[in-house]
Amino acid sequence: MIDGWGRNINYLRISLTDRCNMRCQYCMPTTIPSVGHDEILRYEELLQICRAALQVGINRFKITGGEPLVRKGAISFMQSLRQLSGVQSMTLTTNGMALGPYIPALQDMAIDAVNISLDSLDAVLFQQISGVDGLSCVWQAIRQTVRSGIRTKINAVMLDMTRSQLLPLAKLAEIMPVDVRFIEIMPIGYGATQTGYTADQALAVLRSVYPDLQIVSQHCGNGPAVYYQSKCMQGCIGFIAANTHKFCHQCNRMRLTSTGFLKPCLCYDGGVDLKTIVRSDQTDSLVALRQAICRAAAQKPAGHCFDDIREMTENKTMNQIGG
Ligand code: SAM
Ligand code: SF4
Repeated sequence: MIDGWGRNINYLRISLTDRCNMRCQYCMPTTIPSVGHDEILRYEELLQICRAALQVGINRFKITGGEPLVRKGAISFMQSLRQLSGVQSMTLTTNGMALGPYIPALQDMAIDAVNISLDSLDAVLFQQISGVDGLSCVWQAIRQTVRSGIRTKINAVMLDMTRSQLLPLAKLAEIMPVDVRFIEIMPIGYGATQTGYTADQALAVLRSVYPDLQIVSQHCGNGPAVYYQSKCMQGCIGFIAANTHKFCHQCNRMRLTSTGFLKPCLCYDGGVDLKTIVRSDQTDSLVALRQAICRAAAQKPAGHCFDDIREMTENKTMNQIGG
C-alpha cells in the first residue's frame, strides 16, 4: 500500500494492552487508569483486522503494548497471527519481566525476533528507571532467548540518567549474538519530561572504544535503525535517532492501539477507529476494514514534528499508543 508521499506501508505495530508491569519514568511512571476490558479489542477482532491489513499489503507485524505479555492469551494470539497466510514477519517487543516461560512457545511459532527493553545493567538504576526490582529476571530472560536461537535485540533509551550504561550495554553485542539498539528519547507523553543524549554523541563514545565500528549496509529489521558493527562484536549496534536523524521519509508503519484506533503517525492524534467497524454488523467487515486501513494510510503526514512540539496533537502516553 503506497501512501500519499510514495512510501510503502507494509508494517503494523499492534498494541495488545495499555497495561504494564513496569513504571518506566519516560513512559508510564505512575498508574494511569487503564481502559476498560470492553474497550480493548478481542483477539478475534484483532485477527480480522490483520486479515484485512494483509489484503492491502501489510505483511509485517510487531506485537507490543503496554506490556504485551501481561495480557492473557497473548501467545495463542501470536500463534494464530503467525499462521495467517501472507505474514512475512512477526516480532515481539517486551520488557522481559514475564518472558521466560513463553520462550519455547515463541521458538515453536518461529517468531522472527524478540526485542527486549533494557536501559540499565545496574540493578539500582534499573529499578530507578522502571520502578521494578527486575534486572535479574530480565537478564535471565535475555540469556534464555539468545540460547533458544531466537533473534534477539536489546532496546535501550538514551537518557541522561543512563549515560553510564552506554558502554556496558554495547558490550552485550560483544559477548552474545544480540543487536543492541540505542533509542533517542521522543517527546511523546512522559518522554517530554526527560532529557537524553543523541545518537551522534553515543557513536562518538563508542568509536573511542571500538574504532573499527563500520556502518552495516544490509537492512537488519523492519524499522529505521541504522546499524554498525565492530570486528569484536557478534551482533550489531543500532541507533534509532528519530530526533536528530529524522527518518520519516522512509516510514513504513502504522500503529493500532489496544482500543482499535489505527494511528498513521506517533505525533498526531488523527487516525481511523477500526473497533467500530470490526464490531459492526456489516456482512463484509473485511471490505470496510480494508477501506478504513487505506484511509488511515492516506492520512499519513510527511513527517513528525518533534522539533516543534507545539504542533503535536497526540496527548496519549506511550503505553496507551503502543510503543
Ligand atoms: N513494554 C514493552 C517494552 O518496554 O519493551 C513494549 C512497549 S514499550 C512502549 C516499547 C519501547 O518503547 C520500549 O523499548 C521503550 O523503551 C520505548 N519507549 C517508550 N517511551 C519512549 C519514548 N518517549 N521515546 C523513545 N522510546 C520510548
Ligand atoms: Fe511498560 Fe514498556 Fe512503558 Fe516501560 S516502556 S512502562 S515496560 S510499556
